[in-house]
Amino acid sequence: MLQVTLVTVLVAISIISSASQAAWVGEAQSHMGTEVSVYLWHEDAKVGEQAAAAVFAEVVRIEAMMSTYIEDSQISDINRGAAENPVLTGGELFQLILQSLDISMLTRGAFDITYDSVGQHYDFRERLRPDEATLATELPRIDYRLVETDRSNGSVFFRQPGVRINLGGIAKGYAVERAIRILQRLGVRHARVTAGGDTRLLGDRLGRPWMIGIQNPRDDQEVALTIPMENEAISTSGDYERFFLEDDARYHHIIVPETGKPAGAVRSATIIGPDAVMTDALSTSVFVMGVDQGLRLIATLPDYEGIVIDDNGEMFYSDGLRPPN
Ligand code: ADP
Ligand code: MG
Repeated sequence: MLQVTLVTVLVAISIISSASQAAWVGEAQSHMGTEVSVYLWHEDAKVGEQAAAAVFAEVVRIEAMMSTYIEDSQISDINRGAAENPVLTGGELFQLILQSLDISMLTRGAFDITYDSVGQHYDFRERLRPDEATLATELPRIDYRLVETDRSNGSVFFRQPGVRINLGGIAKGYAVERAIRILQRLGVRHARVTAGGDTRLLGDRLGRPWMIGIQNPRDDQEVALTIPMENEAISTSGDYERFFLEDDARYHHIIVPETGKPAGAVRSATIIGPDAVMTDALSTSVFVMGVDQGLRLIATLPDYEGIVIDDNGEMFYSDGLRPPN
């Protein structure tokens, strides 16, 4: 199933024609199963366009390595072979897997890249979900402790057959974080890079903060809250992007590792902080953990704040976002 990219949409939002004029440059393309967009300021619009192109090239590179929908990706190699023999992985992917396993410990298993052992049986477009027998077989394979990593050679081994890993809860954050690094290296100082629900900002919007909206989970025309931000990352996980309804139940793409079923306690979880890799993984985690447990976790992380919209549409904030009294 090739749910993937190959650069389909290409929107030039504002490209100034004459060569060395300062300008905002914007472009959006389909990658990683979602929309990826770049919006940046450069003294030379032509150089700005090249910088935007470098971002998309980076996203394509990361997707080719980390997408389970791509047969010859490194992650697909792991999923095919790691239950039989350790798969030499090394480099970036190995580091991101290590970080994912650390976040599993931090979140007491709410974040778990082995969710895909069951998660692979959901297809939100085709309205498919695992039947009880499949769930019973696959559920014991969701457990991050089944992933053995060997730092001496950068290899990954699964302690049981049937285990699958998927970086869908962290890879987009990784991609936007990498993109911002590339822009910085190219001399860009004001930029916004977004991949689906994950946004990383560089600097401000020329003397003004970026205004980032959090969507009302039940009305895509309505913004529930707008937050001024600079130089930070923001990620939202929601139950409204990828889902289907069946007999009043909402089946969506964030899975509770203990049950193999979609998390039900909240409609969206938003995390703000310095690093998009963390905000991405934490938004997925807090979505699974729910309001109380989720915000308690965020309270232990001094650089991170959270906003959770629960099943009744009520909004909850972490301490750092509450007005002082
Ligand atoms: P989006 O992909 O819409 O940005 P998220 O960042 O919340 O949303 O990530 C959801 C994705 O995370 C799912 O599509 C799936 O690939 C992956 N995922 C689902 N449940 C879990 C989980 N419990 N732990 C880690 N990753 C998960
Ligand atoms: Mg996430």
